[in-house]
Amino acid sequence: KPMTIITIGMAGAGKSTFVQRINSYLHSQDPPSPPYSVTHLPFDANIDIRDTVNYKEVMKQYNLGPNGGILTALNLFTTKFDQVLSLVEKRSDTVDYVILDTPGQIEIFTWSASGAIITDAIASSLPTVVAYIIDTPRTSAPATFMSNMLYACSILYKTKLPFILVFNKTDVQPHDFALEWMQDFEAFQEALATHGGTRDAEGEPTYMNSLMNSMSLVLDEFYKHLKAVGVSSMTGDGIKEFFDAVEASREEYETQYLPDLERAR
Ligand code: GDP
Repeated sequence: KPMTIITIGMAGAGKSTFVQRINSYLHSQDPPSPPYSVTHLPFDANIDIRDTVNYKEVMKQYNLGPNGGILTALNLFTTKFDQVLSLVEKRSDTVDYVILDTPGQIEIFTWSASGAIITDAIASSLPTVVAYIIDTPRTSAPATFMSNMLYACSILYKTKLPFILVFNKTDVQPHDFALEWMQDFEAFQEALATHGGTRDAEGEPTYMNSLMNSMSLVLDEFYKHLKAVGVSSMTGDGIKEFFDAVEASREEYETQYLPDLERAR
């Protein structure tokens, strides 16, 4: 069975570049293993979301702003998602990977009913993994890093799917600081302290410090449940390691997600 990779990321993290990179990586395998792709990107996608719904037209027709337009377009796309699934299933003997790209602002896909319906529909028919793309150079400040991890954490707990943190743009900045902070919470707190903010003028721990202490437990638990890889979508560095993590996630899907799904049925 093919494995579905759902890509999620903040605008500018490099999600489009990443999706194109993994697409071309799969094409260049020996033998080539072209993925089945559902995307809005201008490459040889199997399903281009823009063919199904034209969001500019939706905005005009329903008199909506850009966010309302994207959300409505996603809702309309969701009503046709059973067709997408049956197209994917028809190809399931010949493809190894399905790439599901999530267009628009990240919040629209991750927090909408339609986003949840699409995610659950695909994950209940194929092994699925979430790839959360992170702009590594832009997440090197401790406070930004923490808010990014908390965001990822909330997506993980919402989807409950196998999850890969993809530290992108390692050609600009290696992701070793992130790995260190994830393995050693004290090192992270140290970094936060030197960036100021965890002690007040009298040297007393601030609100931030006690928040961090209680958060450490949540984040430690979170880090245990995911895989992290560093990639450069620009150079292709780390893409093989990304696919190793995808394959490891297949097993996690089968041993953890599927049993939970069956229990819930
Ligand atoms: P998206 O908004 O998440 O889809 O981001 P894009 O794929 O459009 O990328 C945003 C910017 O980051 C673009 O200028 C890309 O060229 C750049 N970018 C993406 N991936 C990489 C990378 O691995 N290394 C470097 N140096 N730049 C990258």
